[in-house]
Amino acid sequence: MMTLTSAFRDSSQVTKLIKLIQTVADPLADKWGRPLQVMEVCGGHTHAIFKFGLDQLFPKSVEFIHGPGCPVCVLPVETIDQALAIAEQPEVIFTSFGDPLRVLGSKKSLLQAKAQGADIRVLYSPLDAIDLAKNNPDKQVVFFAIGFDTTIPSIAFSLLTAAQQGIRNLRFLCHHIRLMPTLMALLVGDDVQLDGFVGPGHVSMVIGANAYHPIAECFQKPLVIAGFEPVDFLQALYQLILQLAQSRCEIENAYARVVTAEGNLSAQQTISTVFDDGVDSQWRGLGVVPGSGVKIKDYYQAFDATQLLSSTVLSLSSAEITDPGYCNAVLTGKLKPDQCPLFRKHCTPENPKGALMVSGEGACAAYYHYKREFCV
Ligand code: SF4
Repeated sequence: MMTLTSAFRDSSQVTKLIKLIQTVADPLADKWGRPLQVMEVCGGHTHAIFKFGLDQLFPKSVEFIHGPGCPVCVLPVETIDQALAIAEQPEVIFTSFGDPLRVLGSKKSLLQAKAQGADIRVLYSPLDAIDLAKNNPDKQVVFFAIGFDTTIPSIAFSLLTAAQQGIRNLRFLCHHIRLMPTLMALLVGDDVQLDGFVGPGHVSMVIGANAYHPIAECFQKPLVIAGFEPVDFLQALYQLILQLAQSRCEIENAYARVVTAEGNLSAQQTISTVFDDGVDSQWRGLGVVPGSGVKIKDYYQAFDATQLLSSTVLSLSSAEITDPGYCNAVLTGKLKPDQCPLFRKHCTPENPKGALMVSGEGACAAYYHYKREFCV
């Protein structure tokens, strides 16, 4: 039966693209004396590579570095501790998407706090928090808002909707990431060796292909935007490797059915109405990334959940960080997940020791679930 995705999972197309990739990549890797290093930025792509078994088809001349594109994976311990400090206040109903609940703070996770009696609830949309606030006027409802540029518009829209409806007992604990400053920070550091990027489809839908031009112009790295089906991803990879072989360095869009050059202008406008851009922010694995965060504008500070925190919790010492150092090495491409000594033995999705094992899009969870030679 043909489905909407059939054409993008067509095995003959997959085989054809793999052959094309190998034909171009092998001689280039021979010439360079090393495999081509490609970073897939987005956790959704990491997941797709292993879910569809593409890792078993790639030629040895292409090596992937799994980038920092899973928002749960890069959540710092301090942020989880802030979330806990709010969630454990008796008058608070704390709400979140499911995955962040399992990330460990310095002492426990939100899931453990829930088991200990905190009123913590999983929501599928931030808009649901509005109804919860209306139905619980004697409580403060807080939504834990994380995610890259893809998620920020829905949070901004929810906040504006709550403001328009005059809701006074809803706040957002925002720890959002802007992708471009994060990529620039990676490129400024000299400890990550990479030749080009497969660009994220979802973020690009919001920010547009044009947003990536500094990567090609300032850092001479090519980037090709990809969708999430096998043919989408391989087409983008082929275009990227062709650029390397032809010594070109351009931003290309292999996901034009979804991504435009300018992106979603309405979403961009909604973000800039609610958030100030360019805030220095701490990320797990990357440290402080200049300009990568956002902050709720002063005009909307009644909706900012950090107002519920004491100054001690706001400035928790990084000495309390408990995440194993291996996670940072994986996030910056220095270690593959299966090279971590804790992988599968002491760190599993049921008992994650680090954030990369928590979310299904985390590199370690993707290796755990799909990498065939490790299946028991
Ligand atoms: S296996 Fe666990 S501890 Fe090791 S890098 Fe992955 S998440 Fe971190």
